[in-house]
Amino acid sequence: MKGTTVHYVLLSSFFCVFQLTAVMGTELPAVTHYKLNVRFQLKEQRVGIVATLSIKNTSARSHSRLPFLLYRLLTVKQVHDLSGLSLPFKQDIVQLHDEPSLQAREVVVDLRSPLKPRDSVTIMLSYDGFIFGYPEVMAYVKDRIDENYSLLRPDTYAYPVLAGPTFASVLAANDTKFTYDMTVTVPKDYRVAHGGETVDVRIDADSSTFTFRSKLPTWRIDVAVAKFRVLNNPDDQLVVYHLPQDSVGARSVMLAARDVLSFYIDVFGRPTSYKGYTIIEIPDGWGSQAGDYYFLQTAAAFTDSLRISEVYHEIAHSWNATPAGDVQRCRFFDEGFASFFEALAIQRFDGERALQEDMERSRSNFVQWGQYDPQVLNTPIAGYGLKELGRHSYTKGAWSLYVLYRLVGEKTFASIIRNMLNEFTTQPIDFKKFQNLCERVAKRNLQKFFQEWIYGIESSNLLVDKVPIADIVARY
Ligand SMILES: [Zn+2]
Repeated sequence: MKGTTVHYVLLSSFFCVFQLTAVMGTELPAVTHYKLNVRFQLKEQRVGIVATLSIKNTSARSHSRLPFLLYRLLTVKQVHDLSGLSLPFKQDIVQLHDEPSLQAREVVVDLRSPLKPRDSVTIMLSYDGFIFGYPEVMAYVKDRIDENYSLLRPDTYAYPVLAGPTFASVLAANDTKFTYDMTVTVPKDYRVAHGGETVDVRIDADSSTFTFRSKLPTWRIDVAVAKFRVLNNPDDQLVVYHLPQDSVGARSVMLAARDVLSFYIDVFGRPTSYKGYTIIEIPDGWGSQAGDYYFLQTAAAFTDSLRISEVYHEIAHSWNATPAGDVQRCRFFDEGFASFFEALAIQRFDGERALQEDMERSRSNFVQWGQYDPQVLNTPIAGYGLKELGRHSYTKGAWSLYVLYRLVGEKTFASIIRNMLNEFTTQPIDFKKFQNLCERVAKRNLQKFFQEWIYGIESSNLLVDKVPIADIVARY
């Protein structure tokens, strides 16, 4: 989504915290599996959770105590190890050192014996309390627990994050992947919306219990509770959870998802890793976000047909190659491609002119950023990762693919994508490999294009000077 999805943004310090992440690295062990037992008491606005964490020491040193962060109003009652013995712990409300406006509960657990490098341990934290968002830090985090709509997500530390009291440490924890399974119990008439795989649903007289597990290793868990209605398309494995008042919008969202899926399959082939798609409506202004094979979509997008392209964007991520570790933060191979595929879907459903308008919006968005921060213009796409400028892959990354698409033509472009997915789903791709692939499939030398768009910054001038696409293509 161009500027509307929040993939995980802390408003005040987006740039500095990402630089700190690299320094924090793998100092702490990592959670490899979460087992959550969640019970919502909606009238009381409370949630009670037993979280069983499998933890592996991926760091180079032993740890005799482990720090966790939770939402400030969630209180830990007990901590146990796997044998049922209770472990001593301390908890305190802290302000994150590198982001003092962010208040959280720090829980420090003493282990029975030091956790050596490569060893694992399982601990259980029982806690309960309230969630009332983070309006003072992240305007979109209005998450709460009540009878209208309840949401648990990593942004509020609704489940324990193995991190010290800094935002950099939280981001380092978010860089590690885990699997999970969970049961969620809610009062009668409520339904749990979730992006993973549904294992079981049990409806009792006063409550319902939903059992889920992760579809694949991931970095986040999202759980929403409301009187959801559900649209299902089993053939395409599409599910839309929506609020009762938005049933018309939900049908358009489902249709758009189905149509764009079949468009991408036509052009690029069926993705080997496709695991279905779940769309979960969240209240207006709570910040759309994407997980693996699901996304939380703000209510406005259910009622505003102009925002349907956000569905095109999110589903396009199923056609992403796997980027090599050192180019991943450039965000070119995920956000650049998803943004351009979104533009192609706009062309398919709304015509050539709509595509051009979309790309011009994208151009002016990039140019505006460039006026605000010159390094945006002076950094090549291949250098975005080091400077944490990956957000410009949504605009300039997409533009580079737009130029390539016009340059090699529709058919060859599709063939490049098909080959890329064949070769680089298990093997990682980088810019050099992408160039070799493009040159091989297009049977031409593309050095000047790659030099100006990927490795160099001549392309910034072409965008700033509003050079028409046909004239840009003519350069190569
Ligand atoms: Zn995206």
